[in-house]
Amino acid sequence: MIRVQRIPDLEKILSGFGQKGLKTGFVPTMGALHPGHISLIHKAKAENDRVICSIFVNPTQFNDPKDLQRYPRQPEQDFRLLNEAGCDVLFTPEIKDMYPQGTAFPVQLDLGSLALVMEGKSRPGHFDGVVQIVSLLLKAVHPQKAYFGQKDFQQVAIVRRMVELLHIPVEIIACPIIREADGLAMSSRNALLNTEERAKAPAIFKLLSRIKALSGTTSVEDLIVLAKNEIGQTAGMKLDYFEIADVQTLLPVQKLSSEGKAVACIAVQLGNIRLIDNILL
Ligand code: AMP
Repeated sequence: MIRVQRIPDLEKILSGFGQKGLKTGFVPTMGALHPGHISLIHKAKAENDRVICSIFVNPTQFNDPKDLQRYPRQPEQDFRLLNEAGCDVLFTPEIKDMYPQGTAFPVQLDLGSLALVMEGKSRPGHFDGVVQIVSLLLKAVHPQKAYFGQKDFQQVAIVRRMVELLHIPVEIIACPIIREADGLAMSSRNALLNTEERAKAPAIFKLLSRIKALSGTTSVEDLIVLAKNEIGQTAGMKLDYFEIADVQTLLPVQKLSSEGKAVACIAVQLGNIRLIDNILL
């Protein structure tokens, strides 16, 4: 695996791939890699000639400076995991490489309702930062396909909308959520949970599974009440939001019609750590 930090060096490698007609799959990450990230690398590997992974803890998408400060970083282990997974190029830019002119972002995209709900509402500016960095990374890597996890359901919807609006020629591939044995969605932030919090965290997926099981027979209103009650009863857990949303618009649905059209999304504060998860209904 080749590791590059600077965009001009990356461009040299990429032009070599282009000349040989090699198809490139791209996996953008913030590092502290776990099997969820590696599943994206495997999928990219299966569908492309070359795989590029980026690791960049993007400051502009953190609305909480403390979250940015404590975000886990484990560069050596990440390098080893990516090498083992067969990644070809690891792109690890620094802030000055991605934002040579500073972090201000002049482009305002009309993301409509997608950016106003859930994570958009709870984390002001978060998706502006995501759009900013993903557009810059796609411009630097110009892959044929880019891979994102359904764990960040709203992010995938926003990235799809962004590439449409900016006419970026890339196919966005959404990949399934990888979970721990007890159901907790894998996340770099899980490493920050203490033992007690970690023991409580599987309650989130247990709740989502229950919601899904009941969704054929229970009204949306009652499902929301159930979610609020369950999380409210778990000591140390605070519900940020629970929404049953249309998979396309991400707006709340009043009624569940056919299967796969709605998604239950949740964000929970557990101690200092904020966890998100979702399930298709
Ligand atoms: P992050 O490093 O958290 O920015 O994540 C990088 C990519 O990995 C994003 O597209 C995430 O949605 C995806 N990802 C994170 N956790 C998981 C997971 N448990 N399963 C599948 N994909 C994931």
